[in-house]
Amino acid sequence: MSHLSLYRKFRPETFGQIVRQEHVVRILTNQIEKNAVGHAYLFTGPRGTGKTSIARIFARAVNCEHPVNGSPCGACPTCRAFASGSLDIAEIDAASNNGVAEMRDLREKVQYPPVSGRYKVYIVDEVHMLTDSAFNALLKTLEEPPAHAIFILATTEPQKIPATILSRCMRLDFKLLPEEDLEKHLRSILDAIGKEYEDEAVAAIARAGAGSDRDMLSIAEACIVYSEKLTYETACAVLGAADFHETAKLVRAMLTSDMPTALSLCEGILAEGKSVGVLLKDILNLLSEVTVAKTCKNAERLLALPHELYATVKEIADAAPEESILRATEIFIKTENELRFVSSPRISLEAALMRVAYPSADLSADALLVRIHALEGKLAALSACPPAPATEPVRSESPVPAKDPVPAKDLGEQDNYEFPMEEPVFEEAYFSDGPAFAPKKQSSPQPQREQISRPSVAAETKKETPMSEVRPSVRPSAPPAGPVGTDADAVYAKFMRALRTTARNGVLFTVCSDLLVHFEGEKLVFETTSDTILGILARDANRRTMTDVLAGIGISDFEVRRRTAEEKSARDALTELKQNFKDYPIEIK
Ligand SMILES: [Zn+2]
Repeated sequence: MSHLSLYRKFRPETFGQIVRQEHVVRILTNQIEKNAVGHAYLFTGPRGTGKTSIARIFARAVNCEHPVNGSPCGACPTCRAFASGSLDIAEIDAASNNGVAEMRDLREKVQYPPVSGRYKVYIVDEVHMLTDSAFNALLKTLEEPPAHAIFILATTEPQKIPATILSRCMRLDFKLLPEEDLEKHLRSILDAIGKEYEDEAVAAIARAGAGSDRDMLSIAEACIVYSEKLTYETACAVLGAADFHETAKLVRAMLTSDMPTALSLCEGILAEGKSVGVLLKDILNLLSEVTVAKTCKNAERLLALPHELYATVKEIADAAPEESILRATEIFIKTENELRFVSSPRISLEAALMRVAYPSADLSADALLVRIHALEGKLAALSACPPAPATEPVRSESPVPAKDPVPAKDLGEQDNYEFPMEEPVFEEAYFSDGPAFAPKKQSSPQPQREQISRPSVAAETKKETPMSEVRPSVRPSAPPAGPVGTDADAVYAKFMRALRTTARNGVLFTVCSDLLVHFEGEKLVFETTSDTILGILARDANRRTMTDVLAGIGISDFEVRRRTAEEKSARDALTELKQNFKDYPIEIK
């Protein structure tokens, strides 16, 4: 017995079995019941929405001797004759028979009366594929059709049909099917074939069908042969969306501006063989789910995701403001549209990730909104919280008053005044130098101290790595001096140049461009606030690359260290505030 696809096996036999398209069904059944059928119809609409199925039912119904509610009865002699195929119903695929010869042939044959029924019905599929001369030949037939002929022209692209043809047809527009109807249809089929299934799996397959019954059923078919029970995992595996959790991590990292994590996840997912286009689609899907979770009260029911997946989506939604999600969605839609025009899709994808992660590099109104929102948040956090709690023992011993009022005029008048919270945590020896948490001008007993800033690097790598520009550059004040005459910035710049030419791994370079650096004696110390960066740098291969590159520029001793995040975020907030509102005296209460 030959294999029949689900779509063909469960093709509807009556109008009652049609999924949706009530408006079309009502018009056609009314015409049949009133015995007032037309001679030419144009069925338009997306593929898989039931055009051919309805055309076939209609063709049998007009010939049926006792139609039931406008549908063929299935019992009369004509219906029985049609069940085993009939000469009175002809299906022509215009995609393969698009020439004038076929249309002339049709014009001749249409003159002969029907064999068993009342009407000869011609169903011309993909009619927009006909050539101009074939359309002309068809038009001749439509102008003077024999009384026994009915033409049903079906197309997905009505705009390609000549106006002369359109004007002779009754046009019926088919609509995409809503997910709930697709789900219901799929459930009834699964029940009929006795297949066990999870509701989430059915929802996922219906969603993937994107309004097309045929598309949904062909996906379902693949899922059914894949495993014994139809589970959500099976559906995801067949849909190529197996790594929901990876995509979720990527979206979360992107929305929280954690670029190193985002890039490294992106690399990992692509390395597993997923194409850029599919990953983009997954990201967009997830963003739309996040939007629903953010804005709808009954989101869980609407999304129909397994509980734990919904929890992940909800968590991402709660952590990001609406405008960020909306902006990210818009950026990815644009990127998806542009994908077919670019020579290197991966770069487009990474650029989109960066644009989302760093609104400061984007001057559109949306990006500015996101930045204002972030600033408001930081401002609220700054005014609500006392200085950051101690995260290292040395910190708690330092003589910081719990609340250290800062006179407004200091912020306004002194550019180099540093808010007490900004003071970074360093080694104990450093604090023995003098008062650690005092304005900078008083706390610099060593004029030779080096800044841990990296202005020269930013300048050096500016052209190749836009990321180093867009990060607000943070300048913690002086750590203990390195060897006299050794400039940590210069060494860092050299290191980055060397890394650029040696490292094949773009992630390592990106990650390294975001480090703070200073000397402690002969030892070069890299610092980061991110555990992710720390983890990436600790990998054997990366460690080896760094050791080699540093050896190449004469540094044999180095260390990568963790810096506390509270310091940095407070510092970032104030630096950013000052940068953005230069003309306003900012008062922190
Ligand atoms: Zn019948």
